[in-house]
Amino acid sequence: MIKYIGNAASGGLAIGKIKVINRRIIGFKRVVLATHREKALYEAAIILAKDEIRQLMRTSDNEHQNILNFQLVMLDDNGLNQMIQHHIAEGKGSARSVEIAMEEYCNRLKSTGDHYLADRTCDIRDVLGRVVDILDGRSRERFNLTEPSIIVADEILPSDLASIDRRFAMGFITVGGSYQSHANIIARTMGIPSVCGLDSEILNPLNNGREVCVDGYSGEIYITPNEGTVTLFTHRIKQEHREKQSLIELREKNICLDNGEQVEVWANCNDPEDITLAINNGAKGIGLVRSEILFMKSSLPTLESQYKFYCECIKAAKGKPITIRIFDIGADKQVDGIISEKEANPALGMRGIRLQYKYKELFMQQTQALFMAADKQGTVNVMLPMVSTVKDVVDYLEMVNELKKQLLDDKIIQKDNVKWGIMIETPAAAIISDELAKYVEFFSIGTNDLTQYTMAADRMSTDTVMYYDPLHPAVLKLIDITVKNAKKAGIKVSICGESAADAECAKAYIDLGVRYLSMAQNAMIPIKRRLLEDYPTRC
Ligand code: PEP
Ligand code: MG
Repeated sequence: MIKYIGNAASGGLAIGKIKVINRRIIGFKRVVLATHREKALYEAAIILAKDEIRQLMRTSDNEHQNILNFQLVMLDDNGLNQMIQHHIAEGKGSARSVEIAMEEYCNRLKSTGDHYLADRTCDIRDVLGRVVDILDGRSRERFNLTEPSIIVADEILPSDLASIDRRFAMGFITVGGSYQSHANIIARTMGIPSVCGLDSEILNPLNNGREVCVDGYSGEIYITPNEGTVTLFTHRIKQEHREKQSLIELREKNICLDNGEQVEVWANCNDPEDITLAINNGAKGIGLVRSEILFMKSSLPTLESQYKFYCECIKAAKGKPITIRIFDIGADKQVDGIISEKEANPALGMRGIRLQYKYKELFMQQTQALFMAADKQGTVNVMLPMVSTVKDVVDYLEMVNELKKQLLDDKIIQKDNVKWGIMIETPAAAIISDELAKYVEFFSIGTNDLTQYTMAADRMSTDTVMYYDPLHPAVLKLIDITVKNAKKAGIKVSICGESAADAECAKAYIDLGVRYLSMAQNAMIPIKRRLLEDYPTRC
């Protein structure tokens, strides 16, 4: 038995078989062979890539099949092949030649100014990335699991989580990542135990298929556990299950304050499946749907696919209030083809609503889909992420009003069923929240980013955790300002950062006047239990 200790990133316990997925081979060095050999390797890699894609097509839905079909066509593209062969003939080696040609080809498509072609570059990068991975002998495994497994990986991307089959993902163990990284936030909303920050030796391929016990509460991991450890984990898992069952009665309980006010517990979700779980677990509303997850599911969501997704989300909320966030792309949620220039500090760069000017069509398409879904299924709250100026909001809402008029005139929608709000997740937004309140109907405080930006502590970093404190007086002061300004303006204010699920933070926020706490759905019942102890008044 080998014991490792990492950072606990998503609560829960699991025992299962390891599946190692290492897409970043450290210290990997390419060797360039004779030109004719590199050419032969390249041709063999193309054949293998096609086989893999055909295999994937068998288990894919329609939308994904179209993308895979396009990728097959690209592997036969004459122009692209000639470019690659040309670089191989110059002695650059097959893998490097594919990479160079990929850049040239994608830049050429982008320079045509044709949006459709530019949008396809991420599919081209994906398929050529597969060819490069084959040539480098690197794992091409995406996270398509076929049996229950505990994934050990260099890192997990939000896109991996969007594509996995939840029935088979029992736990995550990673070298990279932090508690606040989006993949771990998503793991928590899915209720999958996760431990991050482990030594890279955990990626040893010999670990494949080995049994492992994962403790997502303490960060402990036991590979090839001894009998005693397995018995202990089995016992704890059963106990955890029994406890969850006994907590179910808390689903409908409310937290009541001495002054007669109530605190509502809402849920943060990624898709209709999460929303259904949350509503079944007693969520009084959905405080955040991270819509950018749509990009992780397929390359570029269409108007139709978004409309369908938002309709399903609203339906799953069963008449409870639901808040969908406009795409928050950027920082650690990069999307191929958007923000192509590498930024030195992506968290401080082009993220969220700041992209409205460069990608107006993309945002207006999403907004149209939201208007249409709200028209069909019922009212929806929509909020803007990463606001830092009044202009961010005014400019976006101006575009929204123009679009709405058009949709009403063209009878695409019959009524306006959308309420607009913003996220308060930068210190600037909190400080000018009195001004911002004039333009919107609600605020949602995102303490994940508000803490990061206030404390100048990267939410992804394990080194700055001592500064990353959502209870720091500076963060609390900003929340206080925001809540007071929201109340003065008569608009609703909630907290949807991860800290809402921490009892100490939740109490501090309640003291500051927050009455809506939104969190990962599996955190709702445990936090209710804690808060009911501290607020014993019943109503
Ligand atoms: C936040 O910043 O608190 C938030 C909820 O948004 P995200 O974690 O998606 O950045
Ligand atoms: Mg945020």
